[in-house]
Amino acid sequence: MRQKFIFVTGGVVSSLGKGLASASIGALLESRGLTVMMMKLDPYINVDPGTMSPFQHGEVFVTEDGAETDLDLGHYERFTNAVVSKKCNFTTGQVYDTVISNERKGVYLGGTVQVIPHITNEIKRRILDVEDGVDVVIVEIGGTVGDIESLPFLEAIRQLRNDLGKENSLFIHLTLVPFIKSADEMKTKPTQHSVKELREIGIQPDILLCRTEGDLPLELKKKIALFCNVETDAVITAKDVDIIYEVPLRFHKEGLDEKITTKLNIWARKPDLSSWEKIVETIRNPEHEVEIAVVGKYVKLKDSYKSLNEALVHGGIANSCRVNIRYIDSEEIENGDVGMPEGVDGILVPGGFGNRGIEGKISVIRFAREKGIPYFGICLGMQLAVVEVCRHLANIEDAHSIEFNENTSCPVIYLMEEWVDRENRIQKRDRFSDKGGTMRLGSYPCKLTRDSHAYDAYGKELIYERHRHRFEFNNAYREQLEACGLHVTGISPDGTLIEIVELRGHPWFLGCQFHPEFKSKPFDPHPLFRAFIRASLVHGQGKKR
Ligand code: GLN
Repeated sequence: MRQKFIFVTGGVVSSLGKGLASASIGALLESRGLTVMMMKLDPYINVDPGTMSPFQHGEVFVTEDGAETDLDLGHYERFTNAVVSKKCNFTTGQVYDTVISNERKGVYLGGTVQVIPHITNEIKRRILDVEDGVDVVIVEIGGTVGDIESLPFLEAIRQLRNDLGKENSLFIHLTLVPFIKSADEMKTKPTQHSVKELREIGIQPDILLCRTEGDLPLELKKKIALFCNVETDAVITAKDVDIIYEVPLRFHKEGLDEKITTKLNIWARKPDLSSWEKIVETIRNPEHEVEIAVVGKYVKLKDSYKSLNEALVHGGIANSCRVNIRYIDSEEIENGDVGMPEGVDGILVPGGFGNRGIEGKISVIRFAREKGIPYFGICLGMQLAVVEVCRHLANIEDAHSIEFNENTSCPVIYLMEEWVDRENRIQKRDRFSDKGGTMRLGSYPCKLTRDSHAYDAYGKELIYERHRHRFEFNNAYREQLEACGLHVTGISPDGTLIEIVELRGHPWFLGCQFHPEFKSKPFDPHPLFRAFIRASLVHGQGKKR
């Protein structure tokens, strides 16, 4: 049987949490024994989000097969068992790119190329092309109903409803029901307008998720149902929560999964949500607490480190521990506006690009190393740890990554001009290569050394982790650094790419070239985050004594 489709749209305002809502729907369906795949359609014109600034757009999430995607895909993987791929996220830019190159090739045989049907057909093709063999595909449409950019996407899903049939497709619309203080009332008008706008383009939502501060009383649900032409029990309260992993539980209480399975005519068992309850309970009532300093560049916009924040929470869950994050702008450290993060239990320098705040990060890494505070360096955080050790333990003052100093006499982090990518293709590049498409992206294997923190954490020798970077550890300096105590404990199976380094004689000082945060889940906390939080906990307890 062909899979069924759920289309999730959003109205009134952006940032209502459509990604989380979609992910939670996926989680609920999985809790009933169904299999799901998830995708996100982005109406902007960039071909991929890889070159978009995290300041504007939040984190770039990297898939197993190396696609640079919207951060909502991270929610999908954290909430469900779906492993998303390149096919699961596409933009208007990609759609037009395909249609225009088809036109150049003469595929349309001289016909006039138009939004309907050519653009909409390409959108439909891409939606239907997503992995076969799951029960339900959940498709989130980015943007807000009423945006000019979203129109071709909405038209495409309107058509798909006819192509697929009513029992095989479902429209869910997320809106806002604001509470107006002066009137002491919740207002349904924005929702009515948003649904009106959808209906004008031929989409009648089946289910409404109403984002609210409080519970929606039955009277209001009835009113919304009447004006929006949906059933009263298809009006679901999506109340604000402080723990995101509570959303599937709330939706279930509102009867959402029951409604979806009935409407799609799917027979499914009663849901088992006990593991979600356990997660929420552990986050709410942990036995311990640690404080972690995250020293980065994008600290003002929390979405820039979405997966990282979640992975830290997961590391906490594994240790029954609340993780309080102290964000520190490395530029402020560099300028002397703030001091070293005294009193924290662990220090983490995450991934990043560009010159700003680099010296601030290096001085914090030095602080962690000298004070014996657990240190976790991710990607750029690993590269700078190598620079720090090279400068201050190997006494090569000029050591740097060539990303920041092209003329350094000691390029300990450098650009490999030739390397083999995931598909076994030889890639060539130099510092003049394009910014897009020249990074090491996606999952690569790594072999661990037995006597290491990394091996202790993973408990196995061969691991696969996701990458997104241009520069690499320069093997020419390996011996010199090992002599200073910085050991390579993870390396590509062919021995060319250094993936993990650890400092001996320090309680826990580990840098990895990959991004472990992309693979952490609440039920399956990432081994390195679990071990880092454990080490921080031990450090913190030692401190209190
Ligand atoms: N800027 C560094 C590089 O390109 C690190 C990238 C990252 O941290 N993701 O190699």
